[in-house]
Amino acid sequence: MVSRLLQPQEIVAELMELLAIPSPTGRADRAADYCAERLQELGLEVRRTVRGAVLARVQGRSDSAPRVLTAHIDTLGAMVQEIMPDGRLRLSPVGGLLAPSCEGAYVTVLTRGAPITGTILPECASKHVFGPKYEEQKRTWAEMRLRLDLPVFCPDDVLASGVRVGDFVAVDPRAEHTPAGFVKSRFLDDKAAAAALLAAAREIVQGEQPQRTTYLHFSVYEEIGQGVPAGLPPEVEEVVSIDMAAVGAGQNSREDLVTICAKDSGGPYDWSVRQRLGALADLTGIAWTEDIYPYYSSDATGAVRCGRDVRIGLFGPGVDASHTHERTHAQALLGTAQLALAYLREDG
Ligand SMILES: [Zn+2]
Repeated sequence: MVSRLLQPQEIVAELMELLAIPSPTGRADRAADYCAERLQELGLEVRRTVRGAVLARVQGRSDSAPRVLTAHIDTLGAMVQEIMPDGRLRLSPVGGLLAPSCEGAYVTVLTRGAPITGTILPECASKHVFGPKYEEQKRTWAEMRLRLDLPVFCPDDVLASGVRVGDFVAVDPRAEHTPAGFVKSRFLDDKAAAAALLAAAREIVQGEQPQRTTYLHFSVYEEIGQGVPAGLPPEVEEVVSIDMAAVGAGQNSREDLVTICAKDSGGPYDWSVRQRLGALADLTGIAWTEDIYPYYSSDATGAVRCGRDVRIGLFGPGVDASHTHERTHAQALLGTAQLALAYLREDG
């Protein structure tokens, strides 16, 4: 049974809060603090792993074969690679941020002092100066520049402002909730799933004690493939990632559905986990589908790659235009929270 307390507008509101916290991989500490505080407010036992992930224990009646539900709160981002002679900055992507998708993006440089805003532009950004070069130049990181919103015209000016090589750059998500129920924003991968997992956590602590102990895990290094394995309790036998489903031509996934992943670049997910997740979705009345993602890997797969002997699964909300200009729908957020809750309450 789905509780009346799981409401799409509450999940969207939580998602907006999470999206407003810059958290490029390597600087996800504030987003982790946010999740840890929300879980502590629920009375859950919460700890931080050495590397900064958040781990909360939902105590079941049985401690045998505990499971992990994990979502990642780190996002794509960049770092200052080089201060150019004209005071603009060349960037190095963190976690596969795509340069063409960042043309015109507003960003914040996370300096050791106050954050400083700016815009990512092609090197030849002015049509009135460069004419046809504007269309002709490539949009790779070698040609893109960060223009700081400061009067800086040379490297000394930039250094005096406090910006250094190696500073993290967070891209503004531009999050909007549209009247038709869509949420469009960067970094719905994977804050959409993290918001759904927090909603399921709020719900599970209200009801009867679940049968099985499950850890809720918020990972902070997923986008560079180092998310889940470190810090997992040794007795865990199953790891289920909640992460975005890939929407696009040739895919089954849709922005308003929950997808259970059958296979991604890491190979097939555990058949028994897939069957159980599908049965739970049917029982709960969740609109869901199954799919295969051609260019994708999850934290659950990462656990197996690191030698953990665990069953793995993956489900999550459909996200269009992933790693660029993402969009999902409130129905998929609700379905994802419902399936996470059903998993937490599972008797088997
Ligand atoms: Zn992801």
